[in-house]
Amino acid sequence: MPVLMFCNKCGTPKKLSEYVLSQYVTKAPHIYCDQCDSTNSVTEELRQYAFQVKESDNW
Ligand SMILES: [Zn+2]
Repeated sequence: MPVLMFCNKCGTPKKLSEYVLSQYVTKAPHIYCDQCDSTNSVTEELRQYAFQVKESDNW
């Protein structure tokens, strides 16, 4: 399922779809906020979840 990530700087929630999780979060060190363009580091938990999403679906 998609997850919500909250920006460290402005607190704006960003919805990360399963596609974004499997294709982007598994590789990217940061996620950019849509609102303020600040970088939010991908936590270890989020990255592990992204890999689970990737393995459970055939993209
Ligand atoms: Zn922000």
